[in-house]
Amino acid sequence: MTSLLSGPDASWPLIKRLFSENGRQYLPRYMLAFFFMIVVAVTTAASAWIMESIVDDVVVNNDPTRVRLIAMAVVFVFLLKGMATYAHRIILAKIGNNIVANVQKRFYRHVLSQDLAFHQRMQGGDLVTHMSTNAGAVRSVLDLLITSVGRDLLTVIALVSVMFIKDPLISLVTLFIAPIAIFGISYLVRRVKSVAKAQFSHLASIVTGMQETATGIRVIKAFNLEGKMTNRMNNAIESVESRSNRMANLDARSSPIMETLGGCAIAIVILYAGWSVRENGKTPGEIVAFLTAMLLAYDPAKRLAKVSVQLRSKLVGAGLLYEVLDTEPTLRENEEAGIFGIGDGSIRLDNVSFAYSNVPALNGVTLEATAQSVTALVGPSGAGKSTIVSMIERFADPQSGKITVGGTDIRDVTLHSLREQIAFVSQDTFLFDGSVRDNIAFGHEGATSDQIKEAARNANAEEFILAMRGGYDAPVGTNGDNLSGGQRQRIAIARAMLRDAPILLLDEATSALDAQSEAKVQEALERLMKGRTTVVIAHRLSTIRQANIIHVMDEGQVVQSGSHDELLAEGGLYANLHALQFRDEAAA
Ligand code: ADP
Repeated sequence: MTSLLSGPDASWPLIKRLFSENGRQYLPRYMLAFFFMIVVAVTTAASAWIMESIVDDVVVNNDPTRVRLIAMAVVFVFLLKGMATYAHRIILAKIGNNIVANVQKRFYRHVLSQDLAFHQRMQGGDLVTHMSTNAGAVRSVLDLLITSVGRDLLTVIALVSVMFIKDPLISLVTLFIAPIAIFGISYLVRRVKSVAKAQFSHLASIVTGMQETATGIRVIKAFNLEGKMTNRMNNAIESVESRSNRMANLDARSSPIMETLGGCAIAIVILYAGWSVRENGKTPGEIVAFLTAMLLAYDPAKRLAKVSVQLRSKLVGAGLLYEVLDTEPTLRENEEAGIFGIGDGSIRLDNVSFAYSNVPALNGVTLEATAQSVTALVGPSGAGKSTIVSMIERFADPQSGKITVGGTDIRDVTLHSLREQIAFVSQDTFLFDGSVRDNIAFGHEGATSDQIKEAARNANAEEFILAMRGGYDAPVGTNGDNLSGGQRQRIAIARAMLRDAPILLLDEATSALDAQSEAKVQEALERLMKGRTTVVIAHRLSTIRQANIIHVMDEGQVVQSGSHDELLAEGGLYANLHALQFRDEAAA
């Protein structure tokens, strides 16, 4: 226990924190559980105590009235013990389940409140494992401490008291064995921590592997990657298996230590008992009561000795979860942030620079997107176009420079009110597992059925929706698998229509659709862009031609700006891009 609570990686602060954050609100119920544990401890001691009467009055003297009385007392003691055990177990289980639920809720809220940088750092598997295994670990830490301190320690104390009352001298002798046991266990504790950490990371990689398989199954099959994936998964599974075995080994290794010491203690008592009955006139009942108390104390004592081993492995999980809970979002809302007013609706980037953990992405970008017009961003991939869109959504703050919308610095308003005024249609349309209706309705909280239908009509989506089985109630499938690419895009457009925000950010899909879908998507987009301040990452010539202004980007900078014709006449990067990227389309 000492190595657990002190030293460089002391667990004490974490334990204290777990109690103050999770335990406090349950204090009255913990007290009640504690009361029942006292009952368990006392009744266990009583069952040892009563052995003296059983042996002396029942076996040796055989007094009929005493026999009946003792039988009744035994029933009473065990009944009480049974009921108290039931009561404290139920109370603790309910508290435990509630703790897990609360930790999970809190963790999810925390994960949602984090900025994109956090999510890029964290693997999905890590998050899932925190949510499942490590949330359970928080509960286990508290459970272990409460039941071992509460039930086991109290029981041992009660039984040792019986031993002392029956025979103080030999009790002292047997208790000398305890320090040896503690010494033996503490070396195991130190080994547990490293094994538990490794176990977590491999467990998380199993989950990540499983997620990748689910989302990438087409690629895996198309590229015949089954063997490779299987190998990777097998490695992760086998690592967890061997860590689990090592953990079991550490856990079990306390048994030989404890059993041997227990045997020695009993042997000493037997030698002493023989002598003291002969020489000291002790009754057999007293000896049996002493032995019973000692044997009954053996199990809870063993659990107490092992508790530090188990506690250590659970603390590792709980500690990792708390590390995540402690990460502060780098993106913060200004404390005096106001509600965003759209103003004239124009967007301005003023000398904006940004780097993804030291990889520069934007380098002094200044540009304006005029209200209610279409501003196109074009440029080779990696030029910084998506980063600009992320900046306007305030997914991250620029390292220098500022972004204003309608004259207001977006850092001075709440994130919620800013994003409420923005509709975002991305290339990879994300659909939630649910019905078509639900997926459109995300665009605007509390949208009526009529509004949803109107949005779908405007997005050229109603025709295919009505052709689906169940119409608006048809399921879209996981990741929208039941829909084609063009259909998914039109759902996303309908969502944005419903949102009816003054600002539209659009990341045009690069993958070509069939001509008919393309025309429908294009028409819907045109309708969507009308009357909104639109910033579009453009990949299609038709969009570019429509744009009021085009900013050509390269290596995090705006290198050319103007209309399509002006830029073509100017030559340079735009003319090159046009020749390469849009040649086929222009020819078509
Ligand atoms: P574009 O949209 O024009 O293709 P991006 O804005 O996506 O360009 O990327 C600009 C630069 O930032 C690129 O060099 C890219 O590698 C880098 N980048 C983009 N996203 C991340 C990220 N999440 N982490 C690190 N670097 C990134």
